[in-house]
Amino acid sequence: MSFELPKLNYVYDALEPTIDARTMEIHHSKHHQAYVDNLNNAIAGTELEGKSIEEIQKIGTDKPAVRNNGGGHYNHSLFWELLTPGGRKAPVGNVKAEIEKIGGFEKFKEDFSNAAKTRFGSGWAWLVKNSDGSLTVTSTPNQDNPLMPVADVQGTPVLGLDVWEHAYYLKYQNKRPDYVAAFFDVINWDKVEELYNK
Ligand code: MN
Repeated sequence: MSFELPKLNYVYDALEPTIDARTMEIHHSKHHQAYVDNLNNAIAGTELEGKSIEEIQKIGTDKPAVRNNGGGHYNHSLFWELLTPGGRKAPVGNVKAEIEKIGGFEKFKEDFSNAAKTRFGSGWAWLVKNSDGSLTVTSTPNQDNPLMPVADVQGTPVLGLDVWEHAYYLKYQNKRPDYVAAFFDVINWDKVEELYNK
């Protein structure tokens, strides 16, 4: 059984004006599709074939094709679910309570935005659930993520932001900080809470 490109829960222009339709279409149907195809090719006939995408992240690998494309498939599958048109503007439930413990929502926004803006080159900013239930803001390079044994901060991602240029360049060009600021308008906080409670 091969991995497949997941369908989105919304149409490509649903996140306008925060994320433009053309970017969504290319990002999902071209970039993510390529990660899926390359991952399937990289694991065909290996011991990783048949494992879940989460298992592949946690096992880790020396093979760049599996690390990069497996990370790419996991990260993007999560990312699409974390976006929603007209979502809540702030966290809810247990995530809200845990964010209070790390300084509150405004402090979290600042920390997460800094993680996203200062990740040099391509990568991701993350909010990670630790084994004790606390939350930590971190970032990873390329298509790495906090499930991987190589990550500086390991844990379960509950929020992630793609800061590769392909995620924002058509609309925001070199202004990554504007894209990061706008991201807060389309976060699916109900999904964040669901991931936290899993
Ligand atoms: Mn991407």
